[in-house]
Amino acid sequence: MKIVMLGAPGAGKGTQAKMIASKYHIPHISTGDIFRANIKEGTELGNKAKGYMDQGLLVPDELVVDLVVDRLTWDDAKEGYVLDGFPRTIPQAEALTKALAEKNEVLDHAINIEIPDQNIIERMGGRRACVACGATYHIVNIPPQIEGKCDKCGAELILRDDDKPETVRKRLEVYHDQTQPLIDYYGNEGVLKEVDGTVDMADVFAAICNILDA
Ligand code: ADP
Ligand code: AMP
Repeated sequence: MKIVMLGAPGAGKGTQAKMIASKYHIPHISTGDIFRANIKEGTELGNKAKGYMDQGLLVPDELVVDLVVDRLTWDDAKEGYVLDGFPRTIPQAEALTKALAEKNEVLDHAINIEIPDQNIIERMGGRRACVACGATYHIVNIPPQIEGKCDKCGAELILRDDDKPETVRKRLEVYHDQTQPLIDYYGNEGVLKEVDGTVDMADVFAAICNILDA
């Protein structure tokens, strides 16, 4: 099963993608996580990506596309995957369609998690991410058992630099401009599915499972 998650930053793509990956035994491939890991390791890619990410801008397509196309050839992705944060531009979507076509494959679902902009700023301000394993929480909606500590590995939880309100506003602008057009792109491909992202995360997941199990 090959799935793309669509939705504004903070819509819940990562939260849902992790649950999908675990239930359907497919890898969760998050370009944001890949960039953050590269930044942490101080790689050349990480250094290049950081400047864009800190400003709330997209990393240029040429730094993203080959990385993802290569990742999809790994053994663990043979039976499918859930892509989170990719594609984010029309050229990225076209590159994915082409890479799949070359292998006689197609995307099964592009799941768009719908949530109004007003909800986003509140969600992002409350998001906390684990410095070690990348698990995400929300200080009000999905709190960890011990404040400031990851339930899964016990490491420290932090507010991502790009989740500060001024950067979130920029990311939303970039989303509407460059990423939202993908909703029409996948609508035209006949694989678009929409879910309401404003409800409880278990209810969002139930709606997604209904789509995947249909
Ligand atoms: P994205 O990957 O789309 O940027 P996340 O999955 O990281 O978004 O979710 C953004 C924030 O909102 C996180 O703090 C997360 O814990 C919280 N969150 C995710 N889904 C829900 C939901 N259905 N209701 C309330 N908060 C949610
Ligand atoms: P995310 O964790 O998905 O919210 O991504 C965090 C940041 O990483 C984004 O704001 C972008 O700067 C960068 N990024 C992640 N995925 C992509 C992508 N597919 N194309 C361009 N930039 C990306």
